[in-house]
Amino acid sequence: MMKNKIRECLVKIFLYLSRIYFFGEKYECSCCGKKFRRFLNFNYKLPIYNKNIYLETYKNTICPYCLSLPRHRIICEYLNNNINLLKNKKILIFAAERGIKKWLDNRNIKYKTADLYEKADLKIDITDINLKDNSYDVVFCNHVLEHVDNYRKAIEELNRIIATNGVLICSVPIDITLKETMETKNKETKEERKNK
Ligand SMILES: [Zn+2]
Repeated sequence: MMKNKIRECLVKIFLYLSRIYFFGEKYECSCCGKKFRRFLNFNYKLPIYNKNIYLETYKNTICPYCLSLPRHRIICEYLNNNINLLKNKKILIFAAERGIKKWLDNRNIKYKTADLYEKADLKIDITDINLKDNSYDVVFCNHVLEHVDNYRKAIEELNRIIATNGVLICSVPIDITLKETMETKNKETKEERKNK
């Protein structure tokens, strides 16, 4: 707990200094709408990342204000052009990203967040969702399913809680050069996942 608090505090200081250091107008974040002379670099440390693919893409990547990545900004760009999808809808966000929340907050769009380990409005196990059928019109579930052992069950559950004609905004990491899905041999324990 103490460790998390210290980390949170250090992140805040780091971001505060970054915003000053990267002050400028050249790049605008599609999530929070803030402008900077450049974004932060993103270091792909995990060995699963293919260095040939990511070598050039890790620079100038993270928004110093909302920490959004390109994958978050793509979603917000899409939403900018399809805002009617969200108007007067019941919205649920799994593992809510700061950038997506900023985009919704800036437009005064209400939503609920869900997470199994992190602080959220609802504590939900995505493979056994404690909600009624057709509970939400729009569900965000980005970069979650790759961490779930029984992801098929999770998809069934998402399908169950999303209303008829509802929308699922879902993404997972994909390397289109791979012929087969990479399955992690040693799954993370809940504690490992929680402490990330
Ligand atoms: Zn941002």
